[in-house]
Amino acid sequence: MIAEHAICPDIYHPAVARDGLLTRLRIPGGVLNVAQCMAIEQLLAATSLDYIQVTNRANLQLRALTEDIDKEVLTALTNCGLASSDRAVDGIRNIMLSPTAGIDPQELIDVRPLATAWHDYLTDRPELGILSTKFSVGFDGGGSVGIVDRPNDITLLAVNNREFELYLGIGASGSAPLQVGIRLGVDECLPILAAIAQTYRQGIELFGRDSRRKLRLRDVIYHWSLTGFGEMVQREFKGSSRFIFKNLDRESSELGVGSWEHLGVHQQRQSDRYYLGIVLPLGRWNKPQVKGLGEIADRYGSGAIRLTPWQNIILPDLKLADLERVQSLVTKLGLIHTANHPSSLLRACAGSSGCQFGATDTQQDAIDLSNYIAANFTLDRPLSIHFSGCDKSCAQHDRADITLWGVEGQNCYRLEIAGATAEFGEDPAALCPPDRVPISIGKAIDAYHYQRLNPQESFQAFITRQSPAQLHQIFNVV
Ligand code: SF4
Repeated sequence: MIAEHAICPDIYHPAVARDGLLTRLRIPGGVLNVAQCMAIEQLLAATSLDYIQVTNRANLQLRALTEDIDKEVLTALTNCGLASSDRAVDGIRNIMLSPTAGIDPQELIDVRPLATAWHDYLTDRPELGILSTKFSVGFDGGGSVGIVDRPNDITLLAVNNREFELYLGIGASGSAPLQVGIRLGVDECLPILAAIAQTYRQGIELFGRDSRRKLRLRDVIYHWSLTGFGEMVQREFKGSSRFIFKNLDRESSELGVGSWEHLGVHQQRQSDRYYLGIVLPLGRWNKPQVKGLGEIADRYGSGAIRLTPWQNIILPDLKLADLERVQSLVTKLGLIHTANHPSSLLRACAGSSGCQFGATDTQQDAIDLSNYIAANFTLDRPLSIHFSGCDKSCAQHDRADITLWGVEGQNCYRLEIAGATAEFGEDPAALCPPDRVPISIGKAIDAYHYQRLNPQESFQAFITRQSPAQLHQIFNVV
């Protein structure tokens, strides 16, 4: 069955994309076990696809399907918890956790029990199937790998070991949620989430009847105003009167993409255990790697694999004595685990191969660039690169070191370097064709390596202090 609103599909309702059917598996909290890895292997075998892709919501997606998922495979996915047995609520189980929840030495509160309770609440309430399949809730335990800047509708951020700060997605689409001036004790979190979800449902019933698209939480809040929405939530919550929502806008996040702090080896809060953050280039996880990482997790870890909203993987609960062996096995699978590799912070949307709005083949162009940089340079700091097939910027909403924007009607990119539009070629208005992208970006990396003030100067700082004429020289490769 094709998704009614073919923008955010689930396993029961694939969407039609340019390259075939697109379907997503919700992975609440982003945590997989060995049995689920085996079910994913089975799914890949049944579809004859080479890889499954980790999304920027720490879910999984399959592209270019030629037909619906086979019933037997679907049953296997349901039996191991990768799909909900209730079709109505499968798509709204978007629950994002700090990917190091429970193992982060700096964490204030382990949010895993809250996430489990929220998942159970959602799956027990088919009436919430009316909510948008983009509805998402994030739980951030206040540790070193945070998700509060990820664009969830609701985020709870631990601010001490007893309380959370409430954030709501009331800003622009795709932006980080904003603080609304409400602190909650741990016991209040589930009731307030339930009150918000039920108020959201009522808003859809009231305002969404004639809408051609499913209203998002921010649309409903807009209809009622933030204060009015707070009053509705208060009524639903039935607790003491204290939910006066205020928009406490905060400074936008710093230049630079997401988090790479989780990549490589890190000690866990459990002093005799370590986790390994592994890069999946563009989130692609192929069949041998699904099998291989499942086996490594089973043999050397606790059987768990964690997906991150940066489209990577964490293998937790490893012993010190096994680290070398595990890293060698991961390398044999063709995977790397260092933040300084060019594919570590490489993001690309579906682009022209999968999306009708894509001007350029972002996925292939990103792989070509990553291969070029890996073959010609040794990066000594992480470098974030983002390819977007059009201005919608689906793959990444915060700014990267280098962004390449596909230009409508042309198979070309507009280069944005450290937030500034870069000139390409002799003509200041010229755009960069895909085959010149590697050499142009390579020139910028070269200039950075040889002209920076010292090894600590970041790429952004280096570019920002260049004059327009110097920038032109750096990118002028025609
Ligand atoms: S950014 Fe544009 S081209 Fe890329 S997936 Fe989104 S809508 Fe499509």
